[in-house]
Amino acid sequence: MSDPAQAPLIPAEAWTTRLVTRNFPQFHGGVAIARTLEGYRKTGGYEALKKALSMPRAALVDEVKKSNLRGRGGAGFATGLKWTFLPKDAKEIYLVCNCDESEPGTCKDRELVEYDPHQLIEGFLIASYALGVKRGYIYIRGEMMQEAKTLVRAVEEAYAAGLLGKEQASAEGPYALELVIHRGAGAYICGEETALLNSLEGKRGWPRLKPPFPAVKGLFGKPTIVNNVETLGNLPHIVLKGGEWFARLGIGKSGGTRIVCVSGHVNKPGVYELPMGVTFRHMIYETAGGIPNGRKLRGIIPGGSSMPPLDASEIDVPCEFDALMTDPRIKDVMVKPDMPFDMGGGRRLKTMAGSGGVVVFDESTDVVALCARIMRFYHHESCGQCTPCREGTGWLARVCTRLATGEGKAGDVDLLAEIAHGIAGNTICPLGEAAAWPMLGFLTKFREDFLARERKAA
Ligand code: SF4
Repeated sequence: MSDPAQAPLIPAEAWTTRLVTRNFPQFHGGVAIARTLEGYRKTGGYEALKKALSMPRAALVDEVKKSNLRGRGGAGFATGLKWTFLPKDAKEIYLVCNCDESEPGTCKDRELVEYDPHQLIEGFLIASYALGVKRGYIYIRGEMMQEAKTLVRAVEEAYAAGLLGKEQASAEGPYALELVIHRGAGAYICGEETALLNSLEGKRGWPRLKPPFPAVKGLFGKPTIVNNVETLGNLPHIVLKGGEWFARLGIGKSGGTRIVCVSGHVNKPGVYELPMGVTFRHMIYETAGGIPNGRKLRGIIPGGSSMPPLDASEIDVPCEFDALMTDPRIKDVMVKPDMPFDMGGGRRLKTMAGSGGVVVFDESTDVVALCARIMRFYHHESCGQCTPCREGTGWLARVCTRLATGEGKAGDVDLLAEIAHGIAGNTICPLGEAAAWPMLGFLTKFREDFLARERKAA
């Protein structure tokens, strides 16, 4: 059911269009119809590849630019634009698919791989051809054992069918791609693209200092594009129906649909493909069936646990990338005189759409305990390479936990803010912010909960 308040934002077609999840079992009587090559072909699979190979590379890149496809891994960076950062004279380019999904609250790439592995392979082939890549890698999270088996089987099928490893005719001459599946070992930080590249090279999964960015110096020192599973899965649909169609399906500068993983206090948690401009209210109360036992909403984490939360009064905002940062309907409670939180370029952060992991928490939630749990996660996952993150996340975890367990001290709330500010912007990779941003967000939106714990402890 559409929400009248957002109707002008969302094209009617977007409510009924399913792209990347169209082959999921829930739409086919519980059967995963596209796990095999034969099944995928029956759904029109690999037709987009045929069309892509008949196009000049530059036209394909233009189509992706026109589509307003934005990276679905978390940062929401424009995919076509990212591709243009490759040096024009590069002789050897790598494409790497980031399937190291590990942001708490996010579980969409896992399902995309398990239910439609060939969609990912087709998207990978299209991107590889467009960029002139001859060898690519899919880096899959170690814990995804079943999904890795499914993916390996699908890659073997694609090799046997000559889709991989064998020259195919294209508008740019014979083209062949070698694709390698590489299993990670389960470190959150290896989802950060430069840590992932180090891990792929057989080194410790430590993030690299940037610049140089991977598009200039990436895997084995060569120009490399790293794209997420959902991002690549959208490419066959863009090729078949056109970049402009895809752009029109979305809102603003974000084309297409969006997968969200709704979890926590909702009646129907799950992975849903929704219009890009859907509001969190619609997502919670219509799509996910509302909150159990009639309890009231307290807040949400809108895009995986590294994103600052929204309180219950802020859910009438679209889940689209820019809206969450700039939509005037969000109260500017994040930014207080004593808590400057400037992302640069004049943008003031409220929160971000991140990886689509929407965690809903109701009035029964101990918000301080929830925040402490998140802080312990990031402390545990810090690679330890830089001091503000290694030490700061530990302090956040300890101070937040002592407040949550009734052992806090006077001044702990201010101390948490001070530590978080000491981390943000002072680390090699975004894991520092992944802890500092939600900490500041929780302190701002649910300040009274923290102060009450401090008063109780005093
Ligand atoms: Fe490692 Fe944290 Fe520094 Fe990232 S910010 S490099 S995870 S210590």
